[in-house]
Amino acid sequence: MDPSLIVGALMGAGMIGFLLLIRFKDLPQPTPVSPFRHLDERKASIYENLRDLQFEYRVDKLSDHDYQTTKLELQKELARVLAETDRIKAEMGMQPTVAAAPAKAAPVSAVKPNTCPSCGASFEKSLKFCGECGKPMEVTQ
Ligand SMILES: [Zn+2]
Repeated sequence: MDPSLIVGALMGAGMIGFLLLIRFKDLPQPTPVSPFRHLDERKASIYENLRDLQFEYRVDKLSDHDYQTTKLELQKELARVLAETDRIKAEMGMQPTVAAAPAKAAPVSAVKPNTCPSCGASFEKSLKFCGECGKPMEVTQ
Protein backbone atom coordinates (compact mmCIF):
# COMPACT_ATOMS: atom_id res chain seq x y z
CA MET A 1 0.00 0.00 0.00
CA ASP A 2 1.20 3.46 -0.81
CA PRO A 3 2.15 5.17 2.49
CA SER A 4 0.97 8.48 1.16
CA LEU A 5 -2.52 7.07 1.02
CA ILE A 6 -2.41 6.22 4.71
CA VAL A 7 -1.07 9.66 5.54
CA GLY A 8 -3.78 11.15 3.39
CA ALA A 9 -6.43 9.09 5.12
CA LEU A 10 -5.17 10.09 8.54
CA MET A 11 -5.08 13.72 7.58
CA GLY A 12 -8.59 13.40 6.22
CA ALA A 13 -9.79 11.88 9.46
CA GLY A 14 -8.03 14.57 11.42
CA MET A 15 -9.64 17.19 9.26
CA ILE A 16 -13.10 15.79 9.85
CA GLY A 17 -12.45 15.60 13.57
CA PHE A 18 -11.27 19.18 13.51
CA LEU A 19 -14.37 20.30 11.65
CA LEU A 20 -16.61 18.44 14.08
CA LEU A 21 -14.87 20.11 16.97
CA ILE A 22 -15.37 23.56 15.46
CA ARG A 23 -18.96 22.70 14.75
CA PHE A 24 -19.54 21.58 18.31
CA LYS A 25 -18.06 24.75 19.70
CA ASP A 26 -20.23 26.80 17.42
CA LEU A 27 -23.40 25.25 18.74
CA PRO A 28 -25.43 27.80 20.64
CA GLN A 29 -24.83 27.29 24.30
CA PRO A 30 -27.99 26.93 26.34
CA THR A 31 -26.74 29.70 28.58
CA PRO A 32 -29.53 30.91 30.78
CA VAL A 33 -29.39 34.58 29.89
CA SER A 34 -32.47 34.97 32.00
CA PRO A 35 -34.02 31.60 32.58
CA PHE A 36 -37.05 33.08 34.24
CA ARG A 37 -37.86 35.78 31.80
CA HIS A 38 -40.32 33.80 29.73
CA LEU A 39 -41.81 32.40 32.94
CA ASP A 40 -42.14 35.86 34.41
CA GLU A 41 -43.88 37.02 31.28
CA ARG A 42 -46.12 34.01 31.40
CA LYS A 43 -46.91 34.71 35.04
CA ALA A 44 -47.67 38.35 34.35
CA SER A 45 -50.08 37.45 31.60
CA ILE A 46 -51.83 34.93 33.83
CA TYR A 47 -52.27 37.56 36.53
CA GLU A 48 -53.61 39.89 33.91
CA ASN A 49 -56.06 37.29 32.71
CA LEU A 50 -57.17 36.72 36.28
CA ARG A 51 -57.80 40.42 36.73
CA ASP A 52 -59.76 40.63 33.49
CA LEU A 53 -61.72 37.58 34.50
CA GLN A 54 -62.50 39.08 37.87
CA PHE A 55 -63.65 42.26 36.23
CA GLU A 56 -65.89 40.51 33.73
CA TYR A 57 -67.38 38.46 36.49
CA ARG A 58 -68.07 41.56 38.55
CA VAL A 59 -69.86 43.28 35.71
CA ASP A 60 -71.94 40.14 35.19
CA LYS A 61 -70.44 39.26 31.84
CA LEU A 62 -69.63 35.76 33.03
CA SER A 63 -71.68 33.01 34.53
CA ASP A 64 -70.59 31.51 37.82
CA HIS A 65 -69.65 28.33 36.06
CA ASP A 66 -67.56 29.97 33.34
CA TYR A 67 -65.87 32.11 35.91
CA GLN A 68 -64.96 29.25 38.22
CA THR A 69 -63.79 27.05 35.35
CA THR A 70 -61.59 29.68 33.79
CA LYS A 71 -60.23 30.80 37.12
CA LEU A 72 -59.29 27.24 38.00
CA GLU A 73 -57.52 26.76 34.69
CA LEU A 74 -55.58 29.96 35.11
CA GLN A 75 -54.61 29.04 38.64
CA LYS A 76 -53.45 25.61 37.52
CA GLU A 77 -51.34 27.21 34.84
CA LEU A 78 -49.95 29.64 37.34
CA ALA A 79 -49.00 26.76 39.62
CA ARG A 80 -47.22 25.11 36.71
CA VAL A 81 -45.28 28.28 35.93
CA LEU A 82 -44.30 28.69 39.58
CA ALA A 83 -43.24 25.07 39.81
CA GLU A 84 -41.16 25.46 36.66
CA THR A 85 -39.52 28.57 38.09
CA ASP A 86 -38.64 26.73 41.27
CA ARG A 87 -37.34 23.78 39.30
CA ILE A 88 -34.96 26.01 37.35
CA LYS A 89 -33.90 27.77 40.52
CA ALA A 90 -33.21 24.43 42.18
CA GLU A 91 -31.12 23.40 39.18
CA MET A 92 -29.13 26.57 39.53
CA GLY A 93 -28.74 25.99 43.24
CA MET A 94 -30.95 28.87 44.18
CA GLN A 95 -33.45 28.94 46.98
CA PRO A 96 -36.90 28.14 45.69
CA THR A 97 -39.37 30.89 46.24
CA VAL A 98 -42.09 30.08 48.65
CA ALA A 99 -44.56 29.12 46.01
CA ALA A 100 -47.28 31.68 46.15
CA ALA A 101 -50.49 29.80 46.61
CA PRO A 102 -52.56 30.26 43.48
CA ALA A 103 -55.46 31.28 45.67
CA LYS A 104 -53.50 34.32 46.77
CA ALA A 105 -53.29 35.51 43.21
CA ALA A 106 -57.00 36.10 42.99
CA PRO A 107 -58.67 37.02 46.23
CA VAL A 108 -61.97 37.07 44.44
CA SER A 109 -64.32 35.49 46.87
CA ALA A 110 -63.17 37.72 49.71
CA VAL A 111 -65.11 40.93 49.70
CA LYS A 112 -62.54 43.60 49.12
CA PRO A 113 -62.80 46.76 51.11
CA ASN A 114 -63.70 49.89 49.20
CA THR A 115 -65.43 47.95 46.50
CA CYS A 116 -68.71 49.25 45.17
CA PRO A 117 -71.47 46.73 45.86
CA SER A 118 -73.40 48.04 42.87
CA CYS A 119 -70.91 48.10 40.03
CA GLY A 120 -67.88 46.32 41.47
CA ALA A 121 -65.46 49.18 40.99
CA SER A 122 -62.77 49.24 43.64
CA PHE A 123 -60.95 52.24 45.03
CA GLU A 124 -57.73 52.91 46.86
CA LYS A 125 -59.43 54.52 49.82
CA SER A 126 -62.86 54.26 51.27
CA LEU A 127 -65.46 56.48 49.69
CA LYS A 128 -68.94 57.36 50.76
CA PHE A 129 -70.13 57.20 47.21
CA CYS A 130 -68.84 55.14 44.35
CA GLY A 131 -66.68 57.11 41.96
CA GLU A 132 -67.97 55.01 39.08
CA CYS A 133 -71.70 54.80 39.48
CA GLY A 134 -72.33 57.28 42.28
CA LYS A 135 -74.20 54.84 44.49
CA PRO A 136 -73.52 54.82 48.21
CA MET A 137 -70.77 52.48 49.27
CA GLU A 138 -70.60 50.42 52.43
CA VAL A 139 -67.96 51.66 54.76
CA THR A 140 -66.03 48.59 55.81
CA GLN A 141 -64.27 49.75 58.92
ZN1 LIG B 1 -70.40 51.74 41.71
